[in-house]
Amino acid sequence: MNDNYEESQKVDENIQKAIDQGACVFYPFALITNRTEHFSTILADFESIVDQVWNSVDFDIDGVIFEITNDDIKAHMGATRHHHRWQIAFKVNEESAEVEVINIIAQTSRTGRISPVAELVPTKLSGATISRVTVHHYNMVKTNGVGPGAIVQLVRSGLVIPKIEKVIKKVAPQLPDSCPSCHSHLLWESDHLICPNKSDCPAQTENTLVHFFKTLGNNDGFGPKVIEKLSNFGIKHIHEIYQIKSHQFSGYGFGDKTSKNLFDQLLASREIEIEDWRFLAAFGVTRLAGGNCEKLLQHHTIIELFELSVEQMVTIDGFAQLSAEAIVEGLANVKEQLFKVYQLGFNLAVTPKLSDQSGSESPLAGKIVVFTGSMTQGSRGEMEKNAKLLGAKVGKSVSGKTDLLITGEKVGENKITAARAKGVKVISESEYLALIKQD
Ligand SMILES: [Zn+2]
Repeated sequence: MNDNYEESQKVDENIQKAIDQGACVFYPFALITNRTEHFSTILADFESIVDQVWNSVDFDIDGVIFEITNDDIKAHMGATRHHHRWQIAFKVNEESAEVEVINIIAQTSRTGRISPVAELVPTKLSGATISRVTVHHYNMVKTNGVGPGAIVQLVRSGLVIPKIEKVIKKVAPQLPDSCPSCHSHLLWESDHLICPNKSDCPAQTENTLVHFFKTLGNNDGFGPKVIEKLSNFGIKHIHEIYQIKSHQFSGYGFGDKTSKNLFDQLLASREIEIEDWRFLAAFGVTRLAGGNCEKLLQHHTIIELFELSVEQMVTIDGFAQLSAEAIVEGLANVKEQLFKVYQLGFNLAVTPKLSDQSGSESPLAGKIVVFTGSMTQGSRGEMEKNAKLLGAKVGKSVSGKTDLLITGEKVGENKITAARAKGVKVISESEYLALIKQD
């Protein structure tokens, strides 16, 4: 269950509820109409192919996905943590609208950047009424003249998120001097206006807390409204929230039932197992989102990370000088807070270490293995996790680079033949278990 990839493939329970109650429909990707053509045909006949796909279904489509079918090319292209590189989405924005800007609202983010949000004359676009749109940064506001009275051309990116395509009529922009939250004097940092008040800006504090609970993702009680209430009572740090007792919540203006619920959620969020990389990512260090956290934790424990120098960090695959410098500095900034929270006792699932495994001890060290079919000795997720602990890289599909295909029950003969044709060694679950038992 700790395999992120599998986790991300599961339908969120709220979405499941919406599907069950008929509020939305779910079409598995595999069932959507597709066409396999040589790329030259796709290029030559793109419009009519898309039209055919479009007309063959009775729901809206926001684009098409191109997928490579050649196994060797697929294997060569590989995957990032989020997606296969051999699959790419192509989206078009045809519908657009010219909309008048009423006002620009400045919002202070977690990192102190001031985000300009344009309030618009409400306008219907691709089936929804749009009344606000984010402008990327204040340099865009300044150079493109986005302000009250400006006319912008609006599209919905992927037919969903509204986006300013271009500015049709410019006006003299109004740039804020001070932070809308703490009134500190704003500074320019490349394209952004920033609030330099790191320690005492309510918006930065609140957004940092909201980011923590959202990234942890195992309790939904601590959203912006609850955080704002607590922040108004001077609660600024994550560990302070965890120290609030059930009865104290009522002193912060919550009812009895909510107080108990919030308290229970805090308890649960420490008891439910979460990946250590998710915990680290929750502290919102620049350039340390989930993927980078996981990469670092494959080499060091959370505690060790705080001792790493920039020189040591750049030796880890995927960390260049500038990132390493930013991360080392960012970690130093959150160190005190993180240690206080860490000591509250979270149930962290430790990321398997790559260095321990590459030893010659394990018969799986450095091997690329793929599990297929249903396993009888345990869940496939557990077996994959275990294989990683033994130093294997676990693939999701067989390619020319795969070393071992471990087959459970109900695996089609074709799959096995195809794997053997690629030079992959195919073994049964029991053969596999025998293999990893010999020390
Ligand atoms: Zn501020």
